[in-house]
Amino acid sequence: MNALELHQLVNEISMTYFNKPFKDCVAFNERLRTTGGRYLPSKRKIELNSKFLTELGMEEFKGIIKHELCHYHLHIEGKGYKHGDREFRQLLKKTGSPRHCQPLPTMQNQTLLTYKCSGCNQRYNRRRRIDTNKYRCGKCSGKLKKEI
Ligand SMILES: [Zn+2]
Ligand SMILES: [Zn+2]
Repeated sequence: MNALELHQLVNEISMTYFNKPFKDCVAFNERLRTTGGRYLPSKRKIELNSKFLTELGMEEFKGIIKHELCHYHLHIEGKGYKHGDREFRQLLKKTGSPRHCQPLPTMQNQTLLTYKCSGCNQRYNRRRRIDTNKYRCGKCSGKLKKEI
């Protein structure tokens, strides 16, 4: 899929689900790893992860585009466009957009474990389980606890 086709696809989805054209910039960003896409408010730009298209297929990819378009349209209209905003959550529902995107199959065995320091609440992400009797918080030497 080239840049023009990608823009056409996003505009099509925008017209279908939002009844509004997508007039700004969309591009693939190969540096995105675990996220399917992101919206950059300062540039009014949507970036998408092409790996989600190749690994999960068009339906999942369209879901990501819909999610990013929720950010986009609310932002340019000066409404609450962040994940926690009520307007954002309502628009996700209305357009049937996913709240979170599915992880990539190739990423699934790399789920991160999160540990939290019981002293200073610092969080640590690790790929492997760690021995919390041995390893302590790097900031305050507090005991680490696994977060569920
Ligand atoms: Zn989002
Ligand atoms: Zn600590």
